[in-house]
Formats: sequence, C-alpha cells, structure tokens
Amino acid sequence: MLQVQENVDIKDYCTLHIGGKFRYFATIKNKEEINEAIEIAQKNNTKLFMLGGGSNIVFTDKVLDVLALKMEISGFDIIENTDEYVIVKVGAGENWDTFVSRTVVSNLSGVEALSSIPGTVGATPVQNVGAYGQEVKDTIVSIEVFDIENNNTLNLTNLECKFAYRDSIFKNEGKNKYIILTVTFKLLKKIPEIPHYIDVKKYFIQNNINTPSLLEIRNAIIHIRGVKLPDPKVIFNVGSFFKNPIVDSSLAKKLKNNNTDLTVYPIDEEHTKVPAGWLIEKAGLKGKNFGPLSVYNKNALVLVNNGNATYEDVISVRDQIIKIVKDKFGITLEQEPEIIK
Ligand SMILES: Cc1cc2nc3c(=O)[nH]c(=O)nc-3n(C[C@H](O)[C@H](O)[C@H](O)COP(=O)(O)OP(=O)(O)OC[C@H]3O[C@@H](n4cnc5c(N)ncnc54)[C@H](O)[C@@H]3O)c2cc1C
Repeated sequence: MLQVQENVDIKDYCTLHIGGKFRYFATIKNKEEINEAIEIAQKNNTKLFMLGGGSNIVFTDKVLDVLALKMEISGFDIIENTDEYVIVKVGAGENWDTFVSRTVVSNLSGVEALSSIPGTVGATPVQNVGAYGQEVKDTIVSIEVFDIENNNTLNLTNLECKFAYRDSIFKNEGKNKYIILTVTFKLLKKIPEIPHYIDVKKYFIQNNINTPSLLEIRNAIIHIRGVKLPDPKVIFNVGSFFKNPIVDSSLAKKLKNNNTDLTVYPIDEEHTKVPAGWLIEKAGLKGKNFGPLSVYNKNALVLVNNGNATYEDVISVRDQIIKIVKDKFGITLEQEPEIIK
C-alpha cells in the first residue's frame, strides 16, 4: 500500500532549499502506485504534483495543497542492440547522471555533454535539458506516460513531445496530465563529437588530448561544470536561473559589434541566442549580494540562497535583475526554473 505522509517539509526536496510544506507526500516505485495515488488524491480533494530531484523548481513558503509524488521508478532495459546503435528504456526515477555515466562506460554517445546535470531521467524531457551543444531531445525516441485525465498509459513519439529550447508538451498542454514513467533513448556507437565550446577546447589543449574518448569528454564537462556551478548540496541553487534570450539578430549584431568578448549563437537569419550570464555580468551583477540571495561569483546565471531566503526574496531579486538588464540592454530575461505557488 502507498505510504502517504502529511505536512512534509518542501525544503528537503528542492535544491534551492526554499519552501513550505507538501500537504501530502509519497514516493512512487511502480505504475500501480500511481492508480492508488490518484484515488487518494480524489478522496482528499487534492491534485497530484510530480517531483523528481527538485533541482528546477522554486516553491512557495506556504502549504501546498497537493499530493506530491516523488518519482522513484527504476529500470534500464536494452530494447535493441545493433552495430550502429542501442535503444534503451530507462525508468523515470533513475538518477540522470548515473544513467549518463552508464552510457559513457558502455561507449554509447549522445548524452555525454549532459554529464553532471542534477535530477532524474524522467524530468529531463520536461524542459528538454541541454548543455554544451547537446539537448536531450536529440536522443529521445519515445516517452511512456500515464495520462491522468484518461486513466491510461501511452507512448508519445519524439515529435509528439513538441520539444523546443527548454520547452516541451510537458510544460504546456501536457502539464498536470502526463506522468512520465520511462524514457526510451537511441544512443550511437560512433566516434563522439567534441562539443564546440571554447572551455571544452581549452581543456583538451591544456590536457594534451587530441582525439578525446567519450569518457574524456565526460570528464572535461564534469571538470568545467565543477568550476562554474556550485554543488547544490553545499550551496543551495537551481542551476541557471535565466534562459538565454533569443533576440532579433539585428540587436545581437549591434551588441556583438560593441563587445568583442561576446559570443552569440544564431538560430536562424532573424533570431540569435545571447548568453544571459554575459548580460547579467555586464550589468555589474556577478557576485552581487542581495542579502538573502546572491548572484554566484563564478557564474552570473546562478542565484544562490545564502541560507534563509524566502520565496518572496527570490521573486524580488529575480525582478530586480530583470529590470537592471532590461534598462541596460533592452532585453527581457525569462526565468528558467518553474515556480510553484
Ligand atoms: C547545479 C545545477 C546545474 C544544472 N544544470 C543544468 C543544465 O546544464 N541544463 C539544464 O537544462 N538544466 C540544468 N539544471 C536544471 C535541472 O537540473 C534540470 O532541469 C533537471 O532535469 C531537473 O530534474 P529534477 O528531477 O530535479 O526535476 P524537478 O525539479 O523535480 O522537476 C522539474 C519539472 O519536471 C516535472 N517532473 C519531474 N518528474 C516528472 C515526471 N516523472 N513526470 C512528469 N513531470 C515530472 C516537475 O513537476 C517539474 O515541473 C541544473 C540544476 C542545478 C541545480
């Protein structure tokens, strides 16, 4: 029988370490428990809320009237193994980085640049996680979901997931409708591509590595991230707090012409991605202490809870940063983590 706890501290389940209480809380280890959870939620007139590692959510300080389900469905099943690729189905509750490590050790490429991203496998499609030129959508074949509205299990194809930059169906019409149960990936048995990022290239030059193996690419990413990103177990944070804004290419060109240190990423002729971290840093905010929160001194994209920050503090600091950047560059930043209030 599903064990449901009451009035559970949210702080203990999110990496920003802010939040009130979940009215109800349970861990989910298989599909059957989801049916039980739905019944319990209905009986108590409350909604379900899916939780992975809590590394991409900012919670309110109030009591959240939900049944929070911490996803712990495990599994790693090889569905197909050919000379060129392997198809593997992975439980949504598996730790993402443990999965990445397993693929790298097995010489399978496709997710190595996504090394050391915190959280669960099942949450990665939600915002289509990305880093160092890789996005999880590029290896996802399909996703098995439980449809809460229709009480059935179905498989969504990659196309049906409507992936985009830090976006998917799970953030839009599929929100509060689909529980992700397993994710099926296609990983390749080919020589890996070196991520086209200056930090990665520098790392290989410094370490005298000409043709890096998958493991060397993973190690490079872990090393580079370790310098730039605080460990959320020690310094409370949710990674990048803002998305990289996509702006008119004419504005990006103007910015680039005035700033030789700026690297921009063209999306198409009209749109260009500008690094939010660069904008925040150039607005003089890197390392700035706002009292309960700070902009991380090694990476302006990260907001750090200095210990006792509240939800209101986060919103206030977020809005101050957005205003300062807007006033300086005319670009409106958008936050990346989800707000649950
Ligand atoms: C230090 C640090 C570095 C990070 N680096 C990156 C990075 O490089 N790139 C990047 O993209 N992100 C990054 N993140 C953000 C975050 O780690 C990812 O978004 C991650 O995939 C979130 O996983 P989680 O299990 O913690 O999800 P949670 O934060 O628990 O949940 C995120 C969302 O997914 C939903 N959800 C979770 N599980 C399920 C499920 N099974 N079914 C349906 N919905 C579900 C939740 O309801 C919520 O809406 C970073 C975060 C930190 C703290």
